Amino acid sequence: MDFSEPSEAVQITKALEDFIEQEVAPLEQEYEQFLGQDYEKHIVDENHRQVPAYREVVETIRKKSVEAGFYGMTMPEEVGGGDVDILTRAIVGEHMANRPPGFHSAIFGGAGGPTPILLACDEEQRERYLQPLMDGEITTCFALTEPGHGSDAHHMDTVAEKSESHSDSERSGTAAENDGDEWVINGQKVYITNGPYADFAMVFARTSGEDGDLHGITCFLVEADNPGFEVGTIHRSMGMTPGQHAELHFDDCRVGEDQILGEVDQGFTAAMSWIGGGRINIAANSVGTAQYLLDMSVEYARDRETFDKPIGHRQGVSFQLADLATDIEQTRQLYRYAAWKMDNGDRARKEESMAKLRGAELANKAADIAMQVHGGAGYMKELPIERNYRSARVFRIFEGTDEIQKRTIARELI
Ligand SMILES: Cc1cc2nc3c(=O)[nH]c(=O)nc-3n(C[C@H](O)[C@H](O)[C@H](O)COP(=O)(O)OP(=O)(O)OC[C@H]3O[C@@H](n4cnc5c(N)ncnc54)[C@H](O)[C@@H]3O)c2cc1C
Repeated sequence: MDFSEPSEAVQITKALEDFIEQEVAPLEQEYEQFLGQDYEKHIVDENHRQVPAYREVVETIRKKSVEAGFYGMTMPEEVGGGDVDILTRAIVGEHMANRPPGFHSAIFGGAGGPTPILLACDEEQRERYLQPLMDGEITTCFALTEPGHGSDAHHMDTVAEKSESHSDSERSGTAAENDGDEWVINGQKVYITNGPYADFAMVFARTSGEDGDLHGITCFLVEADNPGFEVGTIHRSMGMTPGQHAELHFDDCRVGEDQILGEVDQGFTAAMSWIGGGRINIAANSVGTAQYLLDMSVEYARDRETFDKPIGHRQGVSFQLADLATDIEQTRQLYRYAAWKMDNGDRARKEESMAKLRGAELANKAADIAMQVHGGAGYMKELPIERNYRSARVFRIFEGTDEIQKRTIARELI
């Protein structure tokens, strides 16, 4: 058994560190207001929308990342990607998370960037959606969750019905000619990451079957200027970069057959087959963040003295660090094992969920221990710990809550 990191992961990490130093760090210095103590106030306007200057920084990094070959790294070569496997991507993600808050999260595009779900695009859709996305010219969003259904998203209320064609001018100006058939989407989505800025959304709607059926859900590619589609309230969230989550409204939103991704009625099952990679990335990200917080805390515990001794010499402190270091190593091996199984084409539902579950717990535990070890200093905004404390919480909720991961693990067992 070889536990060393694959050489490709080591090389990419090194290249990314150089890229961050040369291309990203100067922007972090120039736009310090988007990273400093008052970052939230500077990033959004009074309507909670991200300000143009912030959007431009993100776009600049995205374009530089495309040029350097990091963007769309996990996508296949045939669409211009790097064909990097799940394990390599996750290990690189772990190293990227092991650093102070910065703009590096824009390097891969996050929820707005390329996703293997779009490999279901036909030739024309590849040209219209996937290629510009791979080139960093446009962004997307994944619109599944609704006000009434999150964990049970397949019970969705959003529907799409087939209808006679309206004139093409009522649809997006760039929409291609269709064969006369259109679909009319009605419904609402919530908490959609990158929803306010996406050039097109991957929207899931029921097209046939009964409430709760996994089949009978279709994925539509809806462009931002499509009549009947509107961005609603921009949510105010707890700890993530503000201004990125929104409600999306579909009110008699007409789209053409050419905007169906993959097969009619198969959108949900197709999208779910890709979700495991996302769970592993969250676990890897948690390990990187936890390692960053542990290293910071160890250093502090060595230096900070109370009652004439470094606090790290007290078991009350050192045992917290020992526990955290053990949890980090456990979760690291767990996500790497899950990724290795996936890359080998083995069923890994249980392991993906275990990694996501433990990763989400770890991110929260690490922020809590780091704050405790740092005492009052950890609670203040001068250090990044309080930000980590707030941003870690969502890991237990999105991409499947803790309880849904346990449900999946139990189902695989029983
Ligand atoms: C910051 C953020 C970004 C997001 N981005 C996106 C996005 O880009 N696209 C998108 O589509 N969605 C997105 N989501 C939505 C996210 O996926 C859902 O919030 C999540 O799946 C949970 O759904 P819910 O909020 O409706 O909670 P619910 O499903 O209502 O769950 C409420 C509680 O009940 C528990 N529960 C539910 N069912 C069971 C069960 N069977 N057994 C035990 N416990 C159960 C849950 O674990 C939870 O504790 C985002 C959410 C957040 C917070």
